[in-house]
Amino acid sequence: MAMLPLRLPTIQNWSCHNCSDCCRQHLIEITEEERQRIVDQNWKPKDGIPESQPVVEPHAGPPWNRRYRLAHTDDGSCVFLNEKGLCRIHAKFGEPAKPLACRIYPYAFHPAGKKVTVSLRFSCPSVVANLGKSVVENRDEIKAIGRLVVPDGADQIPPPLVTPGQKVDWDDILRFAEAFDGIIADTEDSLAERLHRVLFVLGVVDQSRFRLIRGEQLSEFLGIITEAAEDEDFPDEPQPVSGIGQMQFRLLVAQYARKDTVADLSGGFAAKLNLLKAALSFTTGKGETAALQDCFKPVPFSDIEQPFGAIPPEADEIFTRYLRVKIQGLHFCGRAYYDAPFVEGLQSLLLIIPSILWLARWLAVSDNRKSLRVEDIRQAMTIADHHHGYSPALGTRSFRRRVRILAQMGDLQRLVQWYLR
Ligand code: SF4
Repeated sequence: MAMLPLRLPTIQNWSCHNCSDCCRQHLIEITEEERQRIVDQNWKPKDGIPESQPVVEPHAGPPWNRRYRLAHTDDGSCVFLNEKGLCRIHAKFGEPAKPLACRIYPYAFHPAGKKVTVSLRFSCPSVVANLGKSVVENRDEIKAIGRLVVPDGADQIPPPLVTPGQKVDWDDILRFAEAFDGIIADTEDSLAERLHRVLFVLGVVDQSRFRLIRGEQLSEFLGIITEAAEDEDFPDEPQPVSGIGQMQFRLLVAQYARKDTVADLSGGFAAKLNLLKAALSFTTGKGETAALQDCFKPVPFSDIEQPFGAIPPEADEIFTRYLRVKIQGLHFCGRAYYDAPFVEGLQSLLLIIPSILWLARWLAVSDNRKSLRVEDIRQAMTIADHHHGYSPALGTRSFRRRVRILAQMGDLQRLVQWYLR
């Protein structure tokens, strides 16, 4: 079948800068064919792989249907990462010999009817920093990867629901996405003001029924409520978040702060106990934070949650690009995000902004500072986006219920405003 046309996030640049973060952070599940190919590559100590070191490991599933992953060394790095920070498979056999998951990263492909939207993972520092060639210049490479990953019959994949029980077609889902992308793209106003409008429009969409509003009428409807959002009062001061909202938000941030490398997941009872202690401390918000990763030191919650001063001006561009790439690429709903309906997925995506700012504050306080640097925000974004749409924890009922509670109580709006100002 001919490849469906790609919709690229043209505002984004990317080239790999060989920092090797992905080879240290990600767990790479491989197919049976890839497992066999890697075993047949016959890795030896002269290639830098000790005799005792397996190159693939069981990952999940019963013995008769085992799933495998690339093996990792004790520090959590991929066994194929060499001392120069490069991939041994790539160096010895060329790029096509690597597992598909490694070749795709940091791109993400999402079938959308007669098109495929492309997004990027901001767990890669080069994506966050917008380094390298524009994705338009990378088009041929992206197309080649797309051919490998987009399955035949992708145009038959159903669109996400708008809200539970409400179906529209793909063209209308793309109309919703374009409307929200348009509000965020209007950078004459601050990001706080734009997100205030996004949440107003999202609230109206959440309450509306679209059985009879389709196609051009839907575009008109979205245009009218977007204009109405511009007349909405923008509060001079952010409103305080409710007590329940603060607790739910801290628990949500704790999920983003976790480090789920192979080494962390194999930590056994001690690691599980630490996670339990962390959950308790994040529930009460009293005393000191549990150190969920080396970069986060135990610091008083109160030091993170007090007013913190202005965020660096560069943050506006980073968050704007982040949200636009995710929205244009539909990287927040449907198959790309735990089959969440459009509205719920967008609420989740918006919650990642205060979550990143909370984590950035934690990094700053860990470094004995009470003001943010742009590096804090970049690092916090790589940590949080590592999980977004990929960590099973974010797809659980309890996580999704947390997002809904924060949205229904109005705390999503308060959190966005509190942390952005
Ligand atoms: S994290 Fe990004 S820049 Fe670093 S090695 Fe991986 S793809 Fe390249």
